[in-house]
Amino acid sequence: MKIRIDKARCVGNARCWAIAPDLYPLDDDGYISIEGFDVPEGLEAIAKRGARACPERVIEVIEE
Ligand code: SF4
Repeated sequence: MKIRIDKARCVGNARCWAIAPDLYPLDDDGYISIEGFDVPEGLEAIAKRGARACPERVIEVIEE
C-alpha cells in the first residue's frame, strides 16, 4: 500500500498527524511535509485512519 499526498492543497490542520505522527510529519508551519510514502507492513490501518481524517481529502490511499 502507498500513500500519495497532494501537499499543495494541505491546509495545515494536522488531523493526519494527530492520528499517526510518525507517518504524517508536519513542517515547522504545521503543513504536511512529505508527498507520500510506502506504508510499512502492519501500519496499513493507522495509515488509512490518518488519510480519512484529512478533511481536505488530500491524502490518497493506493492499494496494491
Ligand atoms: S489532515 Fe490534511 S489538510 Fe490537515 S495537515 Fe494533514 S494533509 Fe494537511
